[in-house]
Amino acid sequence: MIPVKSYAAFSATEPLKPYPFERREPGPLDVQIDILFCGVCHSDLHTVRGDWGPQQYPLCPGHEMVGKVVKVGKKVKRFKIGDPVGVGCMVNSCGKCAPCKNNEESYCEKGATFSYGAPDPKEVGRITQGGYSTGIVVDEKFVLKIPKTIPLDRAAPLLCAGITTYSPLKHWKIKKGDQVAVAGLGGLGHMGVKFARSLGAKVTVLSTSENKRADAMKLGAHKFAVVKDPKDFAALAGSFNFILNTISAKHSYNDYLSLLKLNGTMVLVGLPEPLPLAAGGLIMKRKSLAGSLIGGIKETQEMLNYCGKKKIASDIEVIPMDKINEAYERMLRSDVKYRFVIDLKSLK
Ligand code: NAP
Ligand code: ZN
Ligand code: ZN
Repeated sequence: MIPVKSYAAFSATEPLKPYPFERREPGPLDVQIDILFCGVCHSDLHTVRGDWGPQQYPLCPGHEMVGKVVKVGKKVKRFKIGDPVGVGCMVNSCGKCAPCKNNEESYCEKGATFSYGAPDPKEVGRITQGGYSTGIVVDEKFVLKIPKTIPLDRAAPLLCAGITTYSPLKHWKIKKGDQVAVAGLGGLGHMGVKFARSLGAKVTVLSTSENKRADAMKLGAHKFAVVKDPKDFAALAGSFNFILNTISAKHSYNDYLSLLKLNGTMVLVGLPEPLPLAAGGLIMKRKSLAGSLIGGIKETQEMLNYCGKKKIASDIEVIPMDKINEAYERMLRSDVKYRFVIDLKSLK
């Protein structure tokens, strides 16, 4: 077994604290990774605090991991020691169902094995533990290559925030000239702005934080609008073909839907508590409301290669491991510019 250091939650209400544990020895198809950086996703916070249901503890979150390969199993073909690699939200899936065969593992019919808090098919009786840790062992199918042109710390958030925003923009075929709004300028939102802009869309950021205006424009937005009151929404009614909704907390879907044009689509990637919806808001202009979950491994590699070529990376604030609880509180105040990334050297 391989001992690692980590920070984990021990209940839904206590701060995260040190948790040493052991990873399995790499099997023939496994890659052992020394984790160097791990992004902090709002999903980490939702999960450990029980927003999405009860969890098993101790629970070490983190699904935006990058690092270097330190060991490979004897059947591993795609990786060698020293390679810069990443691991995102999934570490396994059934591999046999239609979505898996179609490279859409996040929609696996048996349920993909998420990187933390999921029953681990490789270690029966244990749950998976994530990337707020010094190392991990993962099947090579779920390991991504990080292009050398992207600094590793700025690459980490691509493994979740990157693919979760890239995938719906590609699925809904966003193209030059589309009027696209990104709702919520946090970790996901800031990547949504970069990708929508690079695909040629006219991009508007819909934010509740006036202090993000200048940044939004630097990230690539053409317009920035503070949307808080009914009059803010009325001023933008019918403006967009597509809204990428990354909002993490309670808000009115109906208000945001009012901003769509005829045949427009709002895709939810943010996952707050269940919220009400008025059918009239969809019917009147034949609008669509949809959702999207991360993206498959093949598409994640495509997104990483795209970022490598286009010099796209996340805007980050690097923190030591022991600042994680403060980072969570700041995330809840929308005070993130635009992703916290843990430097795992601080744990070693
Ligand atoms: P984040 O960095 O905290 O950003 C969320 C942003 O939402 C905030 O920065 C804020 O932007 C906005 N916001 C917060 N409270 C709001 C409110 N009451 N009304 C309107 N806007 C509000 O979070 P993240 O890591 O980007 O994650 C965003 C959401 O996506 C989370 O729910 C997360 O669990 C989910 N997620 C889903 C997937 C998926 O596969 N679908 C993957 C990853 C994450 P402004 O300051 O600009 O208003
Ligand atoms: Zn995430
Ligand atoms: Zn499957």
